[in-house]
Order: sequence, then C-alpha cells, then structure tokens
Amino acid sequence: MTYIVGLTGGIGSGKSTIANWFAEQGVTIVDADIIARDVVAVGEPVLDAIAAHFGPDVIAEDGSLNRSKLRQRIFENPADRHWLEALLHPLIRERMMAACQSAQSAYCLLVVPLLVENKLTGLCHRVLVVDVSPEQQVARTMQRDQADEAQVNAIMASQASREQRLAAADDVIDNNGQDRSLIKAAVAQLHEKYLTLASQ
Ligand code: ADP
Repeated sequence: MTYIVGLTGGIGSGKSTIANWFAEQGVTIVDADIIARDVVAVGEPVLDAIAAHFGPDVIAEDGSLNRSKLRQRIFENPADRHWLEALLHPLIRERMMAACQSAQSAYCLLVVPLLVENKLTGLCHRVLVVDVSPEQQVARTMQRDQADEAQVNAIMASQASREQRLAAADDVIDNNGQDRSLIKAAVAQLHEKYLTLASQ
C-alpha cells in the first residue's frame, strides 16, 4: 500500500509551487483538481447522468461539459449542488486512491485544495499544510489570477479558515517568506522524513 501524504492549503498558499518541488525529488504527485476535471471529460458515462438531471443544455455540442452553465445551476440551487457532489465525490475519491496506489515512488503526494473542507484527511497517512497569512494569500492570488480583492476574499470565505486547516496538520510548511531557497530546504527535509515514515 502506498504511503500517502496529503498536501493542502488555501487558495494562493503555494500548494502547486511546493508540489513541484516534491516532484523534483521524484515523488509522484496526484492532483485532485486534475482528477476532478478528468472524471467529467468527454465520453465519461457520468456525463449522461448529469445531462439527465440538469437537462441537455449543460452539455456542449462537442459532448463536453458546459462548466459555466453547470456552475450557475448549482450556485442557484443547493439541492442540485448536493446531488452533483454525491455523484462526483465518490468517483473522484476512487480515482485519487487508484492513482496513489499505482505510484512508483516511495510515497505519493496527494494535492487536495479542499482536503479539510471535504473531510478527506482520513485518506492520508499524513497531512501537510502550506501555511501563509491571509494577507499573503490575497496578494499572491490577485497577482497570479489578475483577480480583484473582493473575488479572492469570497473564495477564501468559502474555504476552511487558517486555524481549521492548521488543526488538521501533521506537518506545516511556512510559505510566508519570499526566500524560495529556504522553503525548498524545508521541502527537502520533509521529503527525508516521509521517506523514513514510508519505509516503516
Ligand atoms: P496554490 O496552488 O496554493 O493556489 P501557488 O503555488 O499557485 O498556490 O502560489 C500562488 C502564487 O504565489 C503563485 O503565483 C506563486 O508563484 C506565488 N508564490 C508561491 N510561493 C511563494 C513565495 N514563497 N514567495 C513569493 N511568491 C510565492
């Protein structure tokens, strides 16, 4: 059974940046966002269930999911959101686990932005939280996404608080600093620790 380290953090905390540094050490990365996109890719049978529930206008001409239309529908109707989550979450979870189990590295890094929110910490042997101040989160996300402050604040309000996330952490990476070499060194140290834990 593959040893699974869950990596999480709020929007703009630095998850992708830090995951890339683990990947440089040869660690297999399983990205929940990519899997969530793949489960509703063209040709996936689950699209038929979505079309049956929401009507054919959530499927585009080319058979792909009309994400903005679907997003609008579930935004307007919480019951529809729950229906969709009940359909997709088990599938996503299953595929994440399958991807982790087929990892070739000594352990696998499972990157899940909403690990705490969706109560998925139980899938992981260890939880690593990327921690930054809310001010840094806002500033870095605004710059990365060309978003305005209100948009970023709204997303942050829908996510777990810094305290909730830290309460779920076994390990924490402090990504507040600008000196990337220091953060890279912290990644290298954690990597050694995870190799040891995975071998036990
Ligand atoms: P997430 O995947 O958690 O949303 P990213 O890894 O995309 O976050 O990081 C958000 C933005 O902040 C990116 O533009 C990234 O280059 C930048 N960033 C990440 N870590 C640092 C850091 N320590 N110092 C300065 N900028 C950083």
